Amino acid sequence: MISVEQALDRILGSIDVLEAEERAILDSLGQVLAEDVFSTIDIPPLDNSAMDGYAVRSEDTKGASPRSPRLLRVIDTVIAGSVSRHKVELGTAIRIMTGAPIPDGADSVVRFEDTDDAERRQSTGEQLPTEIGILVEVAVGFDIRRAGEDVTRGLLVLGKGAVIRPSEVGVLASLGRSTVKVVRRPVVAVLATGDELVDIGEPLPPGRIYNSNTYSVAALVLRYGGIPKILGVASDSEDSLVARLRQGLDADLLITTGGVSVGSYDIVRDVLAKEGEINFWQVRLKPGKPLTFGTVKGVSQAGVTRSIPHLGLPGNPVSVMVTFELFARPAILKMMGKKYLSKPVIEAVIEDSIINSDGRRIFARAMVKERDGQYFAWLTGPQGSGILTSMSLANGLVIVPEDKAGVEPGDKVQVMMLDWSQEI
Ligand code: AMP
Ligand code: MG
Repeated sequence: MISVEQALDRILGSIDVLEAEERAILDSLGQVLAEDVFSTIDIPPLDNSAMDGYAVRSEDTKGASPRSPRLLRVIDTVIAGSVSRHKVELGTAIRIMTGAPIPDGADSVVRFEDTDDAERRQSTGEQLPTEIGILVEVAVGFDIRRAGEDVTRGLLVLGKGAVIRPSEVGVLASLGRSTVKVVRRPVVAVLATGDELVDIGEPLPPGRIYNSNTYSVAALVLRYGGIPKILGVASDSEDSLVARLRQGLDADLLITTGGVSVGSYDIVRDVLAKEGEINFWQVRLKPGKPLTFGTVKGVSQAGVTRSIPHLGLPGNPVSVMVTFELFARPAILKMMGKKYLSKPVIEAVIEDSIINSDGRRIFARAMVKERDGQYFAWLTGPQGSGILTSMSLANGLVIVPEDKAGVEPGDKVQVMMLDWSQEI
């Protein structure tokens, strides 16, 4: 049996970053940039006003105060998106709106509040005062946003490897880019195995259970940026499994659930041994010991001979989710070109005891809460690997190292956080 680290190393060692694709910027959210993005323009393109006010020459405002306003003649109005044809000479001002280009001759802006604009319009009833009283002194450049102050033409704005977040989408749009080159998302084929499984929406005959793994795995694939391709359920026969595996060969990664433990119907391993290659089977962890990793080979539906990585997750619904977080998630993130592959781990005080009886690394479902700057963790009920609601109540996994016999209430433990919500 190999350790969690060894298993992860072997998985990541056989996974490559996928190719780049050109995508509409909004569709690239969460993907990794595969090009250096340089600006072909200045942003803003021209000096423009930071405020609604009057564009003036600063020397005209010398000595201005509410008691001795400086009177200037208003010669034009300029709004954002248009350019004034007039020039501000000494003794004149141009009414200017936020974002409008600074007219020739002007070197500063006096905001409305520092003029008698409001009183004047109220008393005269005019929309556009013909004269304006300036009530403050302004220095050269005041309330002017300089051309290129955000981005200058030719600048490297976003580097290869950056993750596209909403702010990057915004920056790309500000450069006028409609598409961008990003590492493509992996297609992850999801195949459940088991004669006992019934699909959701169907009546449940005696002795059968609903197939939940397909949906929890597909949801995890989506959550971490992959594209799930649901292959349905294979029954516990070699033929059924081989036929379904073929449907998954166009994907970038195949995830199966079930059929890897030591029961007589656990045939995923046997089929893999024939249809591919097994890299490892069994990892020193709990839940999830019978995790399998290898490669499946064969002719895909598109008629191409392909060989893709295969993660054979155990069948138990909790083991599926835990092993996905530990092994499938980093694999998907690596394919997407991401650098940070692990979930955050914090230290917490545990309120329950956990016994480690057989030297495996335990990942126990827990609820972590913060109190006075300290994290506390509680187990979310019985830890059977079939009890999926214990996962639903949890926001983290308490880690008990393989060389520890257990933990007692009050011990400090490491917790791998699955969700980082406001509630913790
Ligand atoms: P296996 O490893 O195939 O023996 O499965 C282990 C346990 O997980 C059994 O109790 C299965 O019934 C259960 N199981 C396997 N696959 C699924 C699934 N897709 N949805 C829900 N439970 C499953
Ligand atoms: Mg089974």
